Amino acid sequence: AIDKQVFNFSAGPAPIPREVLEQAREELLDFQGLGTSVMEISHRGKEFIRVAEESEQDLRELMNIPANYKVLFLQGGARGQFAAVPLNLKGSKKSADYVNSGYWAQSAIKEAQRYLNVNIIADGKLSGFRQMPSQEQWRFSSDAAYVHYTPNETIGGLEFPFIPETGDVPLVADMSSNILSRPIDVSKFGVIYAGAQKNIGPAGLTVVIVRDDLLEHHSSACPAVWDYATQAGKDSMYNTPPTFAWYLAGLVFKWLKRQGGLAEMDKINERKARKLYGQIESTRFYHNNIDPCWCSRMNVPFTLADPELDSVFLAEAGKEGFMYLKGHKAVGGMRASIYNAVPEAHVDALVSFMQEFERRYG
Ligand code: PLP
Repeated sequence: AIDKQVFNFSAGPAPIPREVLEQAREELLDFQGLGTSVMEISHRGKEFIRVAEESEQDLRELMNIPANYKVLFLQGGARGQFAAVPLNLKGSKKSADYVNSGYWAQSAIKEAQRYLNVNIIADGKLSGFRQMPSQEQWRFSSDAAYVHYTPNETIGGLEFPFIPETGDVPLVADMSSNILSRPIDVSKFGVIYAGAQKNIGPAGLTVVIVRDDLLEHHSSACPAVWDYATQAGKDSMYNTPPTFAWYLAGLVFKWLKRQGGLAEMDKINERKARKLYGQIESTRFYHNNIDPCWCSRMNVPFTLADPELDSVFLAEAGKEGFMYLKGHKAVGGMRASIYNAVPEAHVDALVSFMQEFERRYG
């Protein structure tokens, strides 16, 4: 039994719903009466095929994914997709349009530059990544293979309040840190990809949602394990998929459906974010630098007016069971990641701790 109460605000790998872990523990040694665990069975056997099919069906229902999209369960993480995207979508084009919204967008740009010319069509650098230029100011190029953006910057704490309009040019999104946090219109995207370890499940699994007609643009240089057409043709089993992570993601999808789906998660996430930002904004003791329209609902970075108190804050928080509140080394300060699996009560506990800390040190 675990009696230590912890409040885990890790940016990723991040919390998984307690109920899901309990179910996984329950069936760990004997999956569906097989007498072995799910990670010890063939991915080609009927038991795992059922896990794979059900998880895909559940994700399709949750996100309302249209029939002309493939859903792939791959390895290699979101960084693998930084390379896979240009290699799959390039076709006969020589360039792609990228939106620079911060650390992760820049990482995607750097990788894509190995394969094609990258045009930066909008740059948040000019505002210190506090906000992005409005869409009217984006300088789309005339011959881009696709437009890539990062809907939620996990480190910077900036989230797009809209889905960009790109006309006939396929829109590609690195949704690693805000997938499944609200309903979205999948039909506006050419490709959506996400590393699983934030809002889906354990690390090791990468979900890719790709529109059928884009499967034809791949370059022969694309590694077969990342080739969307190859993997779609083999139901994501061209190579051995990360079966345990996939199974666990499937349990998370069922948990999300039991919560009422993404419309319900949207409401809960809105409430959680409002509570935390409300606390930060209510005082000069705490501060968040992002323009309010662009504040991330998943990752909430904040600083203390007196940075000398950072280490005291983190040490005292740690004693109370608050884990991983230290900001990313690229930006410093604090960060609380509040993905789907972080209970609202944990946000309430953090807000109370912040009030108490300010009362003592403010
Ligand atoms: N993109 C975003 C938005 C992220 O938050 C992360 C975090 O790790 C990555 C990409 C990198 O993902 P991975 O470690 O799965 O390659």
